[in-house]
Amino acid sequence: MWRAKEKNDKIQLSFKYKIYPTREVEEKLLRAMQIEAKVYNALLDVVNNARKEGKTITPKDTQNMLKDLKIEGKDLVYSKVLQMVNNQLWYNISSLHELKKKGKKVGKLRYKKILKIINYNQSGFKVEGDKLILSKIGEIRVLFHRPLEGEVKGVIIKKSVTGWYAIFQVEVEKKPLEKTGKVVGIDLGVEKLVTTSDGVVIENPKVFDKVERRIKILQQSLSTKKKGSRNYEKVREKLAKLHEHVKDLMSDYIHKVTSWLVENYGGIYVEDLGVKEMVEDSESKTLRKHILHSNFSKFMSYLSYKAERAGRRVVKVDPRNTSKTCAKCGYVKKDLTLADRIFSCPKCGWAVDRDYNASLNILHAGSGLPLEPVDRRPLLHIPFSEGVYSKFPGRSRKSPSRGGDAPSVRAG
Ligand SMILES: [Zn+2]
Repeated sequence: MWRAKEKNDKIQLSFKYKIYPTREVEEKLLRAMQIEAKVYNALLDVVNNARKEGKTITPKDTQNMLKDLKIEGKDLVYSKVLQMVNNQLWYNISSLHELKKKGKKVGKLRYKKILKIINYNQSGFKVEGDKLILSKIGEIRVLFHRPLEGEVKGVIIKKSVTGWYAIFQVEVEKKPLEKTGKVVGIDLGVEKLVTTSDGVVIENPKVFDKVERRIKILQQSLSTKKKGSRNYEKVREKLAKLHEHVKDLMSDYIHKVTSWLVENYGGIYVEDLGVKEMVEDSESKTLRKHILHSNFSKFMSYLSYKAERAGRRVVKVDPRNTSKTCAKCGYVKKDLTLADRIFSCPKCGWAVDRDYNASLNILHAGSGLPLEPVDRRPLLHIPFSEGVYSKFPGRSRKSPSRGGDAPSVRAG
């Protein structure tokens, strides 16, 4: 009992930081990733062969084979890291299996030239000041742009076009926030990121329009270049950097918005996104939509862990008809399309912003509170701007502190 409780007071998070390996260390990292791939391929062979012969083979079996595996340079990689390679292989095997079960056409698992991550789980790493020390690799400087909290359980090293990163997996204590007695329904959208049942609209960053135009131009330019040529690679790199920039920007933004929600509301009602996407799937998908959709799940994951940590409740609500129902009288307007930005009720005559209407229905569906919308007042628009950090209602405008009030964490 004691143990279970102890566990319940903690929550797992990830913190991502940029790291700066020296050239020498970078070479070691890359070499480790290549050796990982060799181990991965060898184990994949073992699994394939066993299956060909009709033998059962388990993750434990392949893990036990690791120490006798003859791979050049194997001892240059920390042994537990190789265990994680084994885990990754089996994870890939089961993902493939899941896809097959769903009727998707899938090929075989491929051999790898390099693995993209090095996973130190439980041991083989140490943090000293701004240095990360990895067994068999050495010291790497970390840019701790936000403080690292909690007890570090593992570190994943990752390479991307914009450089090297360390993702720290930590366990932190829950920090219950004071009760607010307030509940809210929120509508997530492509037009506006969030519309709340309190009438607050949180816009999507305008910066997307600009970025989308640039991405399109780069994509066009890419299509005219010869694949594999130097110019092609140059444009491809620019494109990847731009995508990563958008991702970072959006992550930051979502952190602010979800922190604000968790600080202000004890119960937060949201649509169940899996279902929502199905509902909206028939609509054409622009790049903008694609980017935003991919952010809904990020939004949910940030919101969930922050709420869990703060002792708040997040409840998922069936999204069907949340847009089509009149929040005032309950009439269901079947012919409402996504293009209709105003919900106007043919039965009771209520006319209101469609997303606001939806947020009221979400609150109603989740909380069971009576169908009685707040007085119609102008929606409070919160635009995305450079000053986004301090412009949220109910937050102090003086100190856009980094860290401090909100758990400043990057997850995933
Ligand atoms: Zn109505």
